[in-house]
Amino acid sequence: MATATARSLSDAARDYVEAGPHRLLIGGERLEAADGRRLASIDPATGEVICEVAEAGPEDVDRAVAAARGALDGALRKVSASKRAGLIYALAELIKANGAELAELESIDNGKPLSAAQGDVAASVAHLRYYAGWPTKIEGETIPVSGRDLFCYTLREPVGVCGQIVPWNYPLLMAVWKVSPALAAGCAIVLKPAEQTPLTALRLGELALEAGFPAGTLNVLTGAGETGAALVDHPDVDKIAFTGSTVVGREIGAKCGRSLKRVTLELGGKSPNIILGDADLEAAVKGSFLGIYSNSGQACNAGSRLLVAAELFDEVVERLAGFAGEAKVGPGLDPDSQFGPVVSEEQFGRVSGYIDSGLADGAEAVAGGRPDGDGGGYFISPTLFTGVSDEMTIAREEIFGPVLVAQPFETLEEVAQRANDTDYGLAAGLWTRDISQAHKLAALLRAGSVYINTWGAGDPAAPFGGYKASGIGREKGHHNLDAYLETKSVFAQL
Ligand code: NAP
Ligand code: MG
Repeated sequence: MATATARSLSDAARDYVEAGPHRLLIGGERLEAADGRRLASIDPATGEVICEVAEAGPEDVDRAVAAARGALDGALRKVSASKRAGLIYALAELIKANGAELAELESIDNGKPLSAAQGDVAASVAHLRYYAGWPTKIEGETIPVSGRDLFCYTLREPVGVCGQIVPWNYPLLMAVWKVSPALAAGCAIVLKPAEQTPLTALRLGELALEAGFPAGTLNVLTGAGETGAALVDHPDVDKIAFTGSTVVGREIGAKCGRSLKRVTLELGGKSPNIILGDADLEAAVKGSFLGIYSNSGQACNAGSRLLVAAELFDEVVERLAGFAGEAKVGPGLDPDSQFGPVVSEEQFGRVSGYIDSGLADGAEAVAGGRPDGDGGGYFISPTLFTGVSDEMTIAREEIFGPVLVAQPFETLEEVAQRANDTDYGLAAGLWTRDISQAHKLAALLRAGSVYINTWGAGDPAAPFGGYKASGIGREKGHHNLDAYLETKSVFAQL
């Protein structure tokens, strides 16, 4: 890889990168793709190749699903609930112990600032620790049935082999969100990371083996969209869990409907963030700024539509533009960088296209609105649009980049209606000092998460997911555990 980047890595991260090309992880073994194909992982700060990974094809999907089935019917089945809890906890500790390396790999693979990647590692540890508490608390029921001398109880069993497909915006954390409840439930997994960010998912699979999970419990197939599609199509996969675009989510949902696989979908958003007239302006502006531009806007719950009480509009826009103008956008490994590049050349083109569409529709870019840097990396400075109508593309479609549209509103009834006037329903937020108004508006907003005087708050125990086109099902908490369990009623004639 590029020597400048390599030089700034720790020994552990550099050794890992230089040990590439990295192979698939199937049944506890490292294997090349059956057809020998590979794809390159790119550092979005430079556009240069970090290392190559295997690109799994249908034959590899077959092998990985068979390995998962073998584990499920074999060694994994014999692991007691308390042992499973211990293994999940051990995996959390291994992630913590290898946290510095994982954060560096994440930073060069995705582009995000190292400090943000360290935060993702800490959140991953917390997530696994939370789910380590669950295996020993998965209980059935005894049911008082009316048949004579009939005894009925329920068993809660792992749903089976799970195909888990994750995106590139929080590569390690999204993989951990997926595998934790599945492991807690006793499932076996085939994990497919995004082609842009394969490295930390592979490390996660290796660490799961090191923690002591039976071979085949967690298989990792690096690859492209077709690899994910082959996993969805595989007849021996019982459940698909997907995070990514609504377009792909719809297709996966339709396929799972036809095959009657269990499916959970965590999709996109165009989340409204409302600043009411009595808000604490300082907190609201700071929170709204981070709510959209953190992770360079590449968050499914980004607060990408700002609705501001008309009397505050000019002041809020001026303050946001001030923050945006001062923001330091640069390589993730540079400690001065507040925001990194977007993840890929493709994403750079997509976000730039949205900026062009806003300008063409007559909106005004009061901050940003142009690519950054010397053309090497995929940098886009925080962009803020005003003069935006509700019908413009930039006000309706998920941009998934550092682009915010700000619009004024007059009344509470109007803002609730406009906030909900979207196909999406992942998150919504509001800033006010009036607690009664806050909870009334929270009840009106059709979104899976509502943030009051904050943005993006979350916890492993608190459910997260979408209304409407933002998805089906919930991640986190016992809600997500339920998505990896089947319920069996057992009747015995006494
Ligand atoms: P995407 O295509 O939905 O990718 C998400 C995951 O699905 C990746 O692992 C991808 O693999 C895989 N995949 C792609 N096509 C598939 C198929 N037909 N069947 C099964 N799996 C498939 O998202 P993207 O193209 O990377 O990003 C495009 C847009 O999606 C973004 O601009 C953003 O709007 C949205 N997005 C949302 C989230 C979120 O958290 N909700 C996350 C990422 C992106 P490959 O990466 O190898 O294609
Ligand atoms: Mg990459």
